[in-house]
Amino acid sequence: MRIVLFGAPGVGKGSQASLLFENEGLEHISTGIMLRRAIADDSSVGREAKRYMDAGALVPGTVVRKLAEKAIADSEFDQFVLDGYPRTIEQAEWLSEFLESNDAPLLAVVYLKVPDDIIVNRISNRRVHVETGENFHLEYKPPPTGIDPSLIIQRDDDRPEAILNRLLVYHEETRPLEDYFRERDLLLIVDGVGSFQEVHSRVMGALRELQAEL
Ligand code: AMP
Repeated sequence: MRIVLFGAPGVGKGSQASLLFENEGLEHISTGIMLRRAIADDSSVGREAKRYMDAGALVPGTVVRKLAEKAIADSEFDQFVLDGYPRTIEQAEWLSEFLESNDAPLLAVVYLKVPDDIIVNRISNRRVHVETGENFHLEYKPPPTGIDPSLIIQRDDDRPEAILNRLLVYHEETRPLEDYFRERDLLLIVDGVGSFQEVHSRVMGALRELQAEL
């Protein structure tokens, strides 16, 4: 199964991708996690990406393209879920060329829909484990007590100043992908409101229905 999780920042793409990994064995490919690792390692990619990310802007496409294509190739072009890539029409074109030239078309693009007020609550309560990239929510999914608290941080781009810009960038650059994927008959719209498990069941239900039709 080759799928993309699509939706605004904070709709729960990362959490759903983790559940797809745990329950279905799909490789979780997140350009955001790869970039945060590059920043933690202080690599040249990380240093270039940081200033864009801290401002809530998109990192240049050529940088994320390389990361995403390498991870897809490492997963042998199958059994993966993309989280946070593609984010522009240009990236979507690159992705479709890359997959088609490797005879590995997408099964679906799962669009997680969540109203804006819930998104802002989720982002401001989000905390992330610096090493594993796992997401927590202070209220609904607090970090387990055994974890070293210094490893649980708030992402710089989850602070109020950056959230607004990320939502603006999403509406301008990423949202047009909804029509792009719909025209290609790839879009599966899933209600993203509810517990992680409820949303996961909906995602799996929609994917199974689609597979049964094929
Ligand atoms: P995420 O963890 O998916 O929310 O990504 C965090 C940040 O990483 C984004 O706000 C962007 O600055 C950058 N980023 C991640 N994926 C991409 C992408 N496909 N294109 C451009 N920038 C990206």
